[in-house]
Amino acid sequence: MQTYDVVIIGAGHNGLVCAAYLLKAGYSVLLLEKRSVPGGAATTEECMPEEAPGFKFNLCAIDHEFIHLGPVVEELELGQYGLEYLYCDPVVFCPNPDGKYFLGHHSVEKTCAEIARFNQRDAQKYAEYIAFWQRLTNAITPMFNAPPKSIIDILGNYSLNKFQDLFGVLGGVDKTLDLIRTMITSPADILDEWFDSEFLKAPLARLASEFGSPPSQKTIAIGAMMMSMRHNPGMARPKGGTGALVTALLNLVKAKGGTVLTEQVVEKVLIDDGRAVGVRVEGGTEYRANHAVISNIDAKRLFLQLVDAPDIDSADPELRERLDRRIVNNNETILKIDCALSEAPRFERYNHQDDYLIGSVLIADSMRQVEIAHSEPSVGNIPDSDPSMYAVVPTMLDPSMAPDGKHTLWIEFFAPYQVAGAEGTGLNGTGWTDDLKNKVADRVIDKLAEYTPNLKQSIIARRVESPAELGARLGAYKGNYYHLDMTLDQMIFLRPLPEIANYKTPIDGLLLTGAGTHPGGSISGMPGRNCARVFLASQKPLAQTFAKAGKSMKAMAKSLGLV
Ligand SMILES: Cc1cc2nc3c(=O)[nH]c(=O)nc-3n(C[C@H](O)[C@H](O)[C@H](O)COP(=O)(O)OP(=O)(O)OC[C@H]3O[C@@H](n4cnc5c(N)ncnc54)[C@H](O)[C@@H]3O)c2cc1C
Repeated sequence: MQTYDVVIIGAGHNGLVCAAYLLKAGYSVLLLEKRSVPGGAATTEECMPEEAPGFKFNLCAIDHEFIHLGPVVEELELGQYGLEYLYCDPVVFCPNPDGKYFLGHHSVEKTCAEIARFNQRDAQKYAEYIAFWQRLTNAITPMFNAPPKSIIDILGNYSLNKFQDLFGVLGGVDKTLDLIRTMITSPADILDEWFDSEFLKAPLARLASEFGSPPSQKTIAIGAMMMSMRHNPGMARPKGGTGALVTALLNLVKAKGGTVLTEQVVEKVLIDDGRAVGVRVEGGTEYRANHAVISNIDAKRLFLQLVDAPDIDSADPELRERLDRRIVNNNETILKIDCALSEAPRFERYNHQDDYLIGSVLIADSMRQVEIAHSEPSVGNIPDSDPSMYAVVPTMLDPSMAPDGKHTLWIEFFAPYQVAGAEGTGLNGTGWTDDLKNKVADRVIDKLAEYTPNLKQSIIARRVESPAELGARLGAYKGNYYHLDMTLDQMIFLRPLPEIANYKTPIDGLLLTGAGTHPGGSISGMPGRNCARVFLASQKPLAQTFAKAGKSMKAMAKSLGLV
């Protein structure tokens, strides 16, 4: 039996980030990935080699913001392993049916000037709005970059300017209470409070809904970050596609002696006397882990599918039932469309500029349309009578992703995993069939073509992936690419459940990482890095832990000017 210090289940970007930190600390690591391509929801693939050779597609993630709120890229020196980020500017374009449009630039000032063309008051409010969310983001980022229950780690991440921002947003009692009030309201509440214009509110609501809930959902006001981060730290894409981040991580993992085996579906975690000692993959091969098994798949899949019930029950008799029933899933996921294009789409009615296509293109005609787009999936309906969508022409920023002069189109359309009234039919009983997914894709493309009349004639080939197919490809429960819904009740020290929120589980040597752990889904690498820190801390003698705590306190005191 092959033996490693650590075996990681899944080579998503978080599994790879975690592996990189462990390898750098001197541990031997094996990653086992079920697909033939590592990267999970962060791959770039030539997925239509016959109809569209030479066109490369980001099958899932495209825009990277969160990773720039943390130190992963710099600490792992990913530039040295081939990663180059290209920054988007403009960052977002949203045409409105009334002829107005929202064009967001990297610069807040330039964005305000665009808004002022249509509404002077909203332009002024926009600058204040973004300043507030940026201060808040700066104030809470230290918590993202540390295990949620490790006060010492969190405090160690605060510099003077982050403390200033924290106290700035908290202020006195009333200000603090008002901040709490803000955080428990919905994106729609906040947008109505700040702005008047639909052409501005609708795209901001659409971006806030990237957290996976409708804009009216209370407690996710934080979704406002999705626009604020486009100004700072900015929105970027790896040159060559999101998969280039994974390639850089793989280069690093291999350079440090790590092993990545693909087409290895882990079917069981081996537990011996209450301790995780390895895994077995389909086909029966077993791999032993001397120190830990780390799961890049979420707790629900891990414990309900890969661990024997008696092993869990003897560690925590309530865990299985809590994972099964307490974790919520609102049924929303994505129908993904990728197209190879002979030419780039043109927004003729909006004084077309190629620059509009650099960032994300949103079809968000009104707050109502966005609300329907994100509320209908939760009751199993497909919101395709008037589709809202998030589209990107990646080749406008990075022409290397298609043959010369040609383009690609990436469309994300939110849709239910389980279609109402179609239970037990289609793929995995979800109701999704080839016929249904293509009909929905036709409607989505018809809608986009209302804005870009040259679109349909330019499509060379297209690939449509239904929510059921996406779920099967990622292995994600109900196609949830965030592993668990990103609602407040499942965030920070509540993610996935309070008792397993610090990357450790009740089974010794079995740890969790990935989107289903703090701070959640998206391309950030933070769950991978935080989990590695928890593992490494658990391997250190107590004296070293105290020494580290002392260092953190000293750094904090220094940043506050106390020493
Ligand atoms: C269409 C789409 C668009 C998105 N766009 C963005 C975006 O623009 N920006 C952004 O920040 N985020 C985006 N996301 C979300 C983001 O891609 C994910 O949240 C993130 O990639 C999750 O990474 P992870 O490493 O935690 O998990 P995953 O990527 O899910 O990795 C888990 C890995 O485990 C493997 N696995 C599963 N089961 C097993 C098993 N039994 N044995 C072995 N291996 C197994 C999987 O194959 C996978 O490789 C998007 C997601 C989708 C679906």
